[in-house]
Amino acid sequence: MSTLNMLVSGLASGAVRIVDLTHTLDPDFPVIVLPPEFGQCARFRMEEVSAYDHRGPAWKWHNISMSEHTGTHFDAPSHWISGKDVPNGSVDEIPAEAFVGPVVVIDCSKGAAENDDFELTPEIIAGWESDHGRIPADAWVLMRTDWSKRRGAEYLNMRADGPHSPGPTPEAIRFLIEERNIRGFGTETVGTDAGQGAHYVPPYPAHYFLHGAGKYGLQCLANLDQLPATGAVLIAAPLKIKNGTGSPLRVLAMVAE
Ligand code: MN
Repeated sequence: MSTLNMLVSGLASGAVRIVDLTHTLDPDFPVIVLPPEFGQCARFRMEEVSAYDHRGPAWKWHNISMSEHTGTHFDAPSHWISGKDVPNGSVDEIPAEAFVGPVVVIDCSKGAAENDDFELTPEIIAGWESDHGRIPADAWVLMRTDWSKRRGAEYLNMRADGPHSPGPTPEAIRFLIEERNIRGFGTETVGTDAGQGAHYVPPYPAHYFLHGAGKYGLQCLANLDQLPATGAVLIAAPLKIKNGTGSPLRVLAMVAE
């Protein structure tokens, strides 16, 4: 049987399962909030054009608007100043091969349940590799925190000194890029960086190092608790927005049972 025939029969038999890692686009879903002196991202908005009525008797449809960085979304290299001159750095230029590939999941859910500012460190990555083997080159690395189960104000978790949510240290991100040459890094939180990521050197190290190296980001992911640590395949294809720095998207994983 050809490789694709095996995949199709696996999908039909249930031997290959599809896991949806995407939140529903909804006006109530939180978007990142920056300090007030900066420009702000827009939430998802939807207006009815017609609904089988005098505006269109046989059809229903909506106009929608949002930021490139609303809901479950993809970050392209051009999102960050460090990646502004990376070749093929906007979503319309990224080669399509980048949108389908292997994925590993580092489970940080216990630590994140005890500490809102939980950090993914090189030591945690080393522990994960001793259990699961070396992170393969060109893989997506997803940080599971179960943060996607939070609702409302608990999700951004804003306090007087800003948002508090887990993320990687600069050393962890540099290790994944420089020593493992990953494809990209994904989180369940509103950004690839920790809520307090402005306080690292450099600020927002996941954005800074990933995009400077031509790597990608995924955030606001869900259902990471349904993925194995290794062996799944991620499908994450952003909209083809001219010069787009990111895009909402449907993120799917193929998992072998
Ligand atoms: Mn983003």
